[in-house]
Amino acid sequence: MTTAIRALAVHETAHAVVGHLLGATILNVTLNAKLRDGTTVIAQGFAPQKWGESVLMALAGGTAQRMVEPGRSMLDDPHHPDWANDTEKAEMLYSSRVGVIGTEGASDVEEDRLFAELECAAHRATAAALCTSELWLIIEAVADRLINNCCRLSGEELARTTDAMPTERARVALKAAACSLNNYRPNT
Ligand SMILES: [Zn+2]
Repeated sequence: MTTAIRALAVHETAHAVVGHLLGATILNVTLNAKLRDGTTVIAQGFAPQKWGESVLMALAGGTAQRMVEPGRSMLDDPHHPDWANDTEKAEMLYSSRVGVIGTEGASDVEEDRLFAELECAAHRATAAALCTSELWLIIEAVADRLINNCCRLSGEELARTTDAMPTERARVALKAAACSLNNYRPNT
């Protein structure tokens, strides 16, 4: 197995495991090693008030990938082809959140500052949650399973593999990260 395939598997698995542990229904996870691409299909996205959960799921892939593959981070290289789509998704989430928690009548400069604050908070929260050793063990185990299962896992297989491991601390870390993002208010 090449390092690149392993990093790709960790990337896609991180999206799926983080989504699953935060309560999303994952339908399947697939890798296309040749195209260096992967897909996680979910039954339904998180509700708008679960903004933090959506952000964590979007950023988990690239953040996890950089933990196993050297190179510039997602925050330093947001439009890297390995995660350009994830960045785009996250940027739409920051913009929508600026509209919800931003001050009414705020200038463009103030809105840009809040966008940047949210971006930093989101990357910090994602990296901190992924450093939870229990969560990392789950991601590695599911990534192995994905590779050994011809690069495809159903939602049931993903849930079975994840829930066969201790998940309590990983869930707590992810819920705390989501909560801190959902409660984030601008620095004044
Ligand atoms: Zn991704």
